[in-house]
Amino acid sequence: MAIYNLGSINADYFYRVPHLPGPGETLAATDFTRGLGGKGANMSVAAARAAARVVHIGAVGPDGVWARDRLTEFGVDTRHIAQLPDTPTGHAIINVDDHGENAIVLLPGANHAIPETTLAAALSEASPGDTLLFQNETTLQRQAVEMARNLGLYIAYAAAPFDVAATEEVLPYLDFLILNEVEASQLSEETGKDPAALGVKDVVVTLGSKGARWIHDGQARDFPALPVTPVDTTGAGDTFTGYALAARDRGFPMEQALTLASRAAALMVTRVGTADVIPDLKEVTEARF
Ligand code: ADP
Repeated sequence: MAIYNLGSINADYFYRVPHLPGPGETLAATDFTRGLGGKGANMSVAAARAAARVVHIGAVGPDGVWARDRLTEFGVDTRHIAQLPDTPTGHAIINVDDHGENAIVLLPGANHAIPETTLAAALSEASPGDTLLFQNETTLQRQAVEMARNLGLYIAYAAAPFDVAATEEVLPYLDFLILNEVEASQLSEETGKDPAALGVKDVVVTLGSKGARWIHDGQARDFPALPVTPVDTTGAGDTFTGYALAARDRGFPMEQALTLASRAAALMVTRVGTADVIPDLKEVTEARF
């Protein structure tokens, strides 16, 4: 089995600044780091760390070869990441001040220019029962769900960043929907429907330090968060999603998949960073909480 993840790949540029710059201000940063990010890339790394076979479907520009290579190092199949000649790689410019306050500029770049031929070529290799995973940081969601339904794939969607129109368009195709608490209440407010009443077989709402709730056939089941001291919650949701779908793809029942995902996400919030620090399966299974 395999997971085909149509997902964003971003270069995250972190600048440490004495304060967030105001209009017209030029400010010297005191530190700089570059990391692999984007919800799509994070989920691919998490699923690969959880020992699934992961095929990433996406695009980078000439400045993103290192990001693709990083994904390859994490064990992700990167043959279907298009290398675009004239489009910059998606990137985020993240200013963080001494109080931990941040301001972010995000350029979708190549994530919004993934060729449809790249998607079709990747999915032509999929077999019935494989998983299509996608989020909202790329284009081609509509084409992806139509192809996936024809191929008999399990269709999983992380509705982030939240966009009601994008979510409503793909809802009828979904087997699995995952959202965080804020996204779930936005969905309820904007559609008038509770996540339990959407007609999707499996819905997971993640609740940060309160854990996660799985709704299956109208029945709710809670997965408490594990007791940790959080230092950085970035990427917790992406780690949870990647682990849950990887475990399911590897044949685990949903209860076990979500328990493993809760452990992985708890470990993740004890670490600073995104894709580069997602724990591997051995760390997750051996962790004591
Ligand atoms: P997102 O990162 O998408 O906002 P959440 O904040 O809901 O997602 O976190 C996803 C999952 O990570 C939670 O369901 C939980 O299992 C785990 N998690 C998040 N914060 C904590 C925490 N403080 N302690 C333990 N686990 C946490």
